[in-house]
Amino acid sequence: MKRRVFLTTTALTTASILAGCKREESSKYRVNINKKRKVEIKLSTSWPANFPIMGEGVNRFAKKVNLASDGEIEIKVYPKNILVPALGVFDACSSGQIDAFHSGPYYWKGKNPAFSLFGGFPFGFISNEMGAWMHFGGGLELWRELYAKYNLYPLLGGNTDVQMGGWFRKEIKSLKDLKGLKMRIPGLGGEVVAKLGVNPVLLPAGEIYTALERGTIDATEWVGPALDIRMGFYKVAKYYYSGFHEPGSVLELTFNKKFWDSLSKDHQNIITSCANELNSTMVFDFQAQNAKALKELKKKDVILKNWPDEIIKEAKKALFMVIEEQSKKSEDFKRVWKNIEPFWKANRDWTSLGLKNYLNMR
Ligand code: CA
Repeated sequence: MKRRVFLTTTALTTASILAGCKREESSKYRVNINKKRKVEIKLSTSWPANFPIMGEGVNRFAKKVNLASDGEIEIKVYPKNILVPALGVFDACSSGQIDAFHSGPYYWKGKNPAFSLFGGFPFGFISNEMGAWMHFGGGLELWRELYAKYNLYPLLGGNTDVQMGGWFRKEIKSLKDLKGLKMRIPGLGGEVVAKLGVNPVLLPAGEIYTALERGTIDATEWVGPALDIRMGFYKVAKYYYSGFHEPGSVLELTFNKKFWDSLSKDHQNIITSCANELNSTMVFDFQAQNAKALKELKKKDVILKNWPDEIIKEAKKALFMVIEEQSKKSEDFKRVWKNIEPFWKANRDWTSLGLKNYLNMR
């Protein structure tokens, strides 16, 4: 009895395979006899729900991946504090509590000082140059190598493009005016301005406006017109300075490496392509929305300023002091900087000759 069942099953299987082959021959499309492989990805962000440009970008990315994979990959996007706190995403993804996250690499400089360099640095790469270094200068390889130690695999997940220097309650006329100034400014930018006498403070996003209004802080940087206008800083600080501290900050779409390695090659390719698309369109989104918001800000008596030359000169000196200090503290920082430096100098030369001269002409 058992043997009969076995034979029947074998015969049926053979018959279906033969039928499958026939179908394949008669059609120019390959018939996929395997079932669709469904993958669900838990992705947490460091942003509130539907946060403009960055959060919206991730939602768009998730939809694109679903469409491009014909429904096989479903990415569930969780805003900050739903599964994990905003800055808990790195550890949660490293341990496998979540599969992926969207955030910024400079938040993790406490894990490894070199990580801040993958986010950008004062007087550093603009978004185009950053993409050039990442894709064609060895940046991504280095980043992936260092993140692998945390069981993480990063993809480029956007760029804020050039950021503004921030909102100041008083005009900054000289270096003297920076001494003792309390400013909310994170990352390497904070370390650079600290050398000029600024007292950099870190505040959660929700507390910055009140601190600035009450004078608990004298200044704050945020991002650029599009996101700054929503924070309302113009109501309590009239001086809006151009920036040198975050010329093209990188956002990351990072995966748990074990999870990433378990994905099929075609799924990896779909996710990577959609991430690359997000990476470039986010810059376009920032460009369009910053221009629109600037027009609005100009109607609100905002005073647009640039830095006095002596401050720029000192800030550049301070940058090299910070880089030297960090390189002494961290071998990884030193190694990443050694990779960046020649690329940065060569690209600065080309950008100055091409883009900068053009911008001065137009
Ligand atoms: Ca910023």
